[in-house]
Amino acid sequence: MICPKCGALVNDNSTVCWNCNSRLANNKYYNGVQEQNPVENRSIITVGDWVVTFILLTVPIVNLVMPFVWAFSSSTPLSKKNFGKAILILWAVSFVLLILFWGSIIAMLHSIPQGGTSI
Ligand SMILES: [Zn+2]
Repeated sequence: MICPKCGALVNDNSTVCWNCNSRLANNKYYNGVQEQNPVENRSIITVGDWVVTFILLTVPIVNLVMPFVWAFSSSTPLSKKNFGKAILILWAVSFVLLILFWGSIIAMLHSIPQGGTSI
């Protein structure tokens, strides 16, 4: 790495610059911070992992809980997190469509007797 203060080439593992003696943001330190707060876990999800994921989605109750766990757990890899969020969005959309569908049917059923009497 390069010292941000003096621009000297420094060993990646050193915490202090050999040239200007200023403290360096050590790579190990940054890795430690990322492990504590993995906002973006970009680890690859294996085929077996996806198989388990889809099996879990066929189990009642578990398939209602797991999308929330995937979407909001900080340890979940980013792709699976997005997958969980996509499921939650699809739920929200289908829920709205279901309400609109039944809402229009109920509205139609209510409007039929009124329409019949007016003619
Ligand atoms: Zn330096």
